[in-house]
Amino acid sequence: MTAGDCAEAIISDLGIDSPEDVDVDAIAFDAGLEVIYEPTVGCEATLVGFENRGIATINPGPVVGRRRFSVAHEIGHWHLHRGRSFKCRVDDADNNLASSQPLEKEADTFASHLLMPGPLFNPRVDSGKYPDFDVLADIATQFKTSLMATFIRLATCNRLPVVVACYGNDGRRWTLFAKDIPKRWFLKRKVDEDSFAYDLLKSGKERRQHGKQSADAWFENDDAGNFELSEQCVASFGGRALVVLYLESAMLEAQPDWNNYNGGK
Ligand SMILES: [Zn+2]
Repeated sequence: MTAGDCAEAIISDLGIDSPEDVDVDAIAFDAGLEVIYEPTVGCEATLVGFENRGIATINPGPVVGRRRFSVAHEIGHWHLHRGRSFKCRVDDADNNLASSQPLEKEADTFASHLLMPGPLFNPRVDSGKYPDFDVLADIATQFKTSLMATFIRLATCNRLPVVVACYGNDGRRWTLFAKDIPKRWFLKRKVDEDSFAYDLLKSGKERRQHGKQSADAWFENDDAGNFELSEQCVASFGGRALVVLYLESAMLEAQPDWNNYNGGK
């Protein structure tokens, strides 16, 4: 059972059928995990476990989404990595996605599925039209999650042909492809001058609605100019750009690109 399956099984066992009912404190309590909110030093959350009792200490920051993700992340460690203690930088995709810490990634995956379980999340992105940022912000409000966590879930739920990525002036920080996107597409390491994200990084101009874009603004492949995609981007912390790309269906059916068969991720 994957970390995501484990989280969703808990939601199902508790009979939770709406986002408002995902009460992370109650879910922790039910699992024998006490949650304390007090300032932490050098991390966002800690978990200390002893036999069947654990204490999660959560930094009581002002952002509800981050706080909930922290609790869910520690519940993940509690279920998946029993017997160990953790100091975590939670809901920090910059570190957790870009790093190779498998236990942190697992706890993040667990948290993502606990807060946004597929049976509740998927219908909200399956409405027929690809969700723009306003729709995604509305979904984040319903699930009480951060925008970044919601974007990441949008990619991992694999319902739409979407790529979510984070770029800084120094290049790509991390990227997530929906699983069904062919492996032949190689995302550029640097933001292209023709992309909307370039304008965002240079002049702070966000693009919250779908913007049509030639795929060669984003992909290295020689034939990328034959395809189109939709690009949106918003500012993230540290002066970075969070990017959501929806690929047109022809990109999913494109033949293998032997010129770029180099694993160039
Ligand atoms: Zn952790």
